[in-house]
Amino acid sequence: MIYMNFNELNHPYRYAVERIVHGFEIYEQNADVSACLARSASAGSKLEASVFLYDELVRLTGRTLPWGIFTGVHPIRFIRENRHNLGEFRISPERLQLADEIMAVQDVRTNPREVFHLYVGIPFCPSRCKYCSFVSESVTKPSTQKLITPYVDALCREIAAVGEYSAANGLTLEAMYVGGGTPTMLPVTAQSRLYAAVSSVSAQAVREYTVEAGRPETLTDEVLAAIKAGGATRISINPQTMNDETLRIIGREHNSTDIYKAYEKARRFDFAVINMDLIAGLPGEDCSCFTDSLNKIIALEPENITVHSLAVKRGAAVKARSDADFTLIAHDILTAAGYVPYYLYRQSNCAGDNIGYTRGANVSRYNVLMMDESSTVLAAGCGGATRVFMSDGSVRKHYNFKYAHEYISRFDEVMNKFEKIHDIP
Ligand code: SF4
Repeated sequence: MIYMNFNELNHPYRYAVERIVHGFEIYEQNADVSACLARSASAGSKLEASVFLYDELVRLTGRTLPWGIFTGVHPIRFIRENRHNLGEFRISPERLQLADEIMAVQDVRTNPREVFHLYVGIPFCPSRCKYCSFVSESVTKPSTQKLITPYVDALCREIAAVGEYSAANGLTLEAMYVGGGTPTMLPVTAQSRLYAAVSSVSAQAVREYTVEAGRPETLTDEVLAAIKAGGATRISINPQTMNDETLRIIGREHNSTDIYKAYEKARRFDFAVINMDLIAGLPGEDCSCFTDSLNKIIALEPENITVHSLAVKRGAAVKARSDADFTLIAHDILTAAGYVPYYLYRQSNCAGDNIGYTRGANVSRYNVLMMDESSTVLAAGCGGATRVFMSDGSVRKHYNFKYAHEYISRFDEVMNKFEKIHDIP
């Protein structure tokens, strides 16, 4: 098998055409596709080249792509901004309908010059899930274990600096999200220190405060009590699937019984919103396996359910076609059960979508505004992406280190970011 090498492709719109070709699950060298690519290179614009290539690939494969030639990760924002000019983008009627449903419940505008969102990243997990594409280190390694205390020390200092920066610039904290990684795998004392540091950023109660409790096996009574005492109103418990054999295959260290126990325990702590994540297209799972998990989660009645599509690595055995179906199947089941879709994003190499659903008025402002890229975000910790809106309409961005050892050893550079983003004029 010879993979198509786009690095060697001399094409004025290489990135766009590569995304379209891979959208059709074409990874191997293919003479017909190469000929189409060569012809599309002489098009007068990126749009023209994309439309030509797309139409040719539809003809060659007999397939269409749900989002047509749109290859970005934020289709909802794109559709909102271009609603009356989408004719050439070949977006399917089902996706346009889905986008309209989502936009109808996304009424969460905010002023990014007055309020901000705080993201806090924990780059550790109890073990690595086999499908994971995030930068998160397993604490099964003693060398990683040793990083936990210095990391939390440094993180608390960065969070305090965020508080000073926001106060100096008149920004009010509206929503915060402690994620990663698995924050709830930290020792309880470290979690309590962290939640105290986070709470000190804002003098008044924050409108929305989420802690990602991704791995159900980490949710002891002590951990839940620490999260609750810290002031969080939302937690996310992530089963991914309710099938025990799949959980074993993907390297999770919990089973479905642990998920039920964690959920029941969390309910006793009276969080306003519990979100549960599922992944469509996991190895070995067909449609009935996925819908069985989905129905089991719906029966628990969490306020939010998020359905992700498994991102497909290039060159891997691909199941993207059925992923696309899962998106609509999940939508039909969830809407019939009273949930509505409220935010959506895509990942590269992923045919399906990632969609958050809510029951009742439990839309997460943080999720909507993050996907819209329309809020000021001050991020602390590994993987954090800071985004500040300036008075001239420009946006200043800063990305923290991805790995804990870098974050700790180069912490001076982390703190220097506040000089780079400056006071907001
Ligand atoms: S819990 Fe989440 S971040 Fe951690 S390894 Fe699994 S998928 Fe990755």
